[in-house]
Amino acid sequence: MRQIIVHGKIYPLTTPIPPRRGLEMAKQTIIDDGAVVIEQGIIEAIGPTNQILAEFGHQPTLVDAKGSIVIPGFVDCHTHLPFAGWRADEYRQRLMGRTYQDLGKLGGIARSSQQFHESPDEDIVAFCESLIHEMLFNGTTTIEMKSGYGLSVAGELRQLRLIQELRHRVEQRTVSTGLFLHTPPPNLPKDRWLIKVLDELLPQAHQLQWIDAVDAFVESTAFSVHEVGEFLREAQKLNLNIRVHSDQFSHLGGTAMALNLRARGIDHLDHIHSHDLAPFEASPSVAVLLPGATYSMGHKPHPPARKMIDHNIAIAIASDFNPGTSPISSMPLIISMAVHFFGLSPEEALSASTINAAYVLGVDHEVGSLEVGKRADVLILDTDTLDSIPYRAGHNPVRQLFVHGRLVTINPSS
Ligand SMILES: [Zn+2]
Repeated sequence: MRQIIVHGKIYPLTTPIPPRRGLEMAKQTIIDDGAVVIEQGIIEAIGPTNQILAEFGHQPTLVDAKGSIVIPGFVDCHTHLPFAGWRADEYRQRLMGRTYQDLGKLGGIARSSQQFHESPDEDIVAFCESLIHEMLFNGTTTIEMKSGYGLSVAGELRQLRLIQELRHRVEQRTVSTGLFLHTPPPNLPKDRWLIKVLDELLPQAHQLQWIDAVDAFVESTAFSVHEVGEFLREAQKLNLNIRVHSDQFSHLGGTAMALNLRARGIDHLDHIHSHDLAPFEASPSVAVLLPGATYSMGHKPHPPARKMIDHNIAIAIASDFNPGTSPISSMPLIISMAVHFFGLSPEEALSASTINAAYVLGVDHEVGSLEVGKRADVLILDTDTLDSIPYRAGHNPVRQLFVHGRLVTINPSS
């Protein structure tokens, strides 16, 4: 059944060659009284309401978006779903002055790994399904999920299998990443783990078609630039997209290595060195900024987003949703933080959370903008000004949304 959104103020985010770089991120073409035609889960047409109605007639279901902004569904390109429980007590410890690193094996990734191993499959799937549903209500229609809490070949494969199970249960477009170098497994030297990853885990995960990309964490408590480089080069031979967590707590050279390898996304970058900015400008990599982690960890310095834009770098933003360092899943709140802490404009933050994030995941041909032939993932907001998204921090601006063409009413009174 054909459905048409009419009379919306549409931000289509059309981008001839994604990602949007530098100043291009702020440029938004708006269709003031616009319509989007949805058929079989796909966008069939988009344009001025009068033209669309003249072409498609008045018989289809009409959704009136008068007074509303209409934007593409948010693409959350960095989460640590699936996980098996919260770590609010650690958050409290940090508030009392203990550092993330201080918590050692009592907290951090090792703790989430333990929770993961102690929970049955069905509990993890039910827990994460409800979280992913909550994300849908906040407008997230594409989600990246990662491994990284398994910390053994069997454990990582189990986490990837649960991603596949969730993928079939939820309505969002999902992308699966193998974060095989997250933290060294307990009781195994790093070099032995790297061999296992290269000889067993990576080939098996690839053979099973359970990963679209790989990721690794360069940090003194995690893996070295050399170790991560070796892993990423192997993954590239399998034509997998590569991602890196780099410069989160310290500057170790991970960003320069990732730029050399033309990683799709280089994530965090709170401590990026100024000498990495010029090579970034000339590279196809996107800077993935994670303001939820910066906020939760109380980090200074912040990633230099304005300098990145001056250097014509493409920026994406994401939730980094995880129980330790960013227990925040709402993309409208992430946009607010990116504007408030990093100095992005609302227009730049919109590009960063839609088309640029889709590019990072390698799905920009399917999602991230409102264009004919793409998945009908469309948000109808309760406001006619984009500024309201960051301004009303904590408020969910999504009134109605389409996920793959299915209409969901979030807040009928707004
Ligand atoms: Zn992460």
